[in-house]
Amino acid sequence: MLSKTMQDALNEQINKEYFSAYLYLSMSAYFESVNLPGSAKWMRAQHGEEQEHALKFFDYVNDRGGRVTLKAIEQPQVEFKSPVATWEMVLEHEKKVTASIHKLYEIALAEKDYATQSLLKWFIDEQVEEEKNATQMVERFKQAGEHPSTLLLLDGHFTKHGE
Ligand code: MG
Repeated sequence: MLSKTMQDALNEQINKEYFSAYLYLSMSAYFESVNLPGSAKWMRAQHGEEQEHALKFFDYVNDRGGRVTLKAIEQPQVEFKSPVATWEMVLEHEKKVTASIHKLYEIALAEKDYATQSLLKWFIDEQVEEEKNATQMVERFKQAGEHPSTLLLLDGHFTKHGE
């Protein structure tokens, strides 16, 4: 059985994962509005992935005999300064998520909750991947600069290959 502290923290994380999904969907809408459909597609896929993360925690809380409590999802930012600034925001956001996962792990360690530690190891590895991808996108878009033709070319790559 999950402790109350652990359960509350996991419920909080479910909300954070849904906020991530919502934020990335908002970014997808922004990229659509500036005619970068490849980036929009990427963000839409991220939206799906974040929902899967939320459901992974959802299932886990239930599997451990806990009680899931869903909270209101905060409104995400709607306007973004530029494509590069948006990717930089993704990286910053993923760093926050990493810190949040690490905090959960610290609670699981303190409570000697080995099952939760095991679940969180998957998320710790996943965050390494998320930060790596976001860093790559920031670098690529920085290289492309503000030139519409270069941006379109880079974006077109994501339309075709998805990454
Ligand atoms: Mg996530």
